[in-house]
Amino acid sequence: MSKWPIGVFASIDAGLGVKLEVAQELGVPTIQLHAPEQATRTPENAEKFLARLQELGIELTAVFGGFEGESYADIPTVCETVGLVPAATRAARTREMKEIADFAKLLKCEVVALHLGFVPHDTESPLYQEVLEVTRDICNHCQANGQRLHLETGQESADGLLQFIQDVGCDNLFVNFDPANMILYGTGEPIEALKKIGKYVRSIHCKDATWAANPGQEWGAEVPLGAGDVGMENYLRTLNELGYDGPLTIEREIPQEPERQKAEIGGAVRLLEELRAKVL
Ligand code: MG
Repeated sequence: MSKWPIGVFASIDAGLGVKLEVAQELGVPTIQLHAPEQATRTPENAEKFLARLQELGIELTAVFGGFEGESYADIPTVCETVGLVPAATRAARTREMKEIADFAKLLKCEVVALHLGFVPHDTESPLYQEVLEVTRDICNHCQANGQRLHLETGQESADGLLQFIQDVGCDNLFVNFDPANMILYGTGEPIEALKKIGKYVRSIHCKDATWAANPGQEWGAEVPLGAGDVGMENYLRTLNELGYDGPLTIEREIPQEPERQKAEIGGAVRLLEELRAKVL
């Protein structure tokens, strides 16, 4: 794989990514995949999907776990519903996350990723210890599969995330850096955060957003790539300085407007191609 192949976040039957055909139409050589529904995660389907990828000349670079009942409606709802932090769903979701890792292995994919949820800031709290435990449990499962686990950024500050990764203490735990999430959740200036956690960044999202009037209390707004406050050229220059050479995966989740989604991702592909030529 050459440095910085462009990618797009894709879905089969779950999640908000684009269909494989759209990735192909846009000429994108890599995808990250939202894990399909449980009924779809069979060995037969894995084989079919792999064959389809090969036919389209697309490489799968990560499988993202997601769970029923998660809602990103507003920040408090994310706290209550997302990832492995909520206690009521933790055991079932941990089991499912391991199944997703096993499905990713069938797809010959060495990277499994997820939104862990809001990790408590108080590192002495029992909940913080529980979240450490469950993360170690999944890291160990991935390790046995020969996989890494990438945590999506946004819900934690860079310092909080660094602390958390060190406290987990597993050497297959890394970061999927999403600069727009830092703005959407109001957890810090993205480029500064990227520099802090750079050594853990093994995959990234190319997504853009504008700051909320009251960051951290309300959502910022997700906008087309290049139209927000991330600063795409600076983002790519910083990734280059850090020695990041993985895919540039575009994430634009407006599946309710498929034509607009495709057009905006097309625009993002052109922007990234232009900036890549300029920066590299
Ligand atoms: Mg993301």
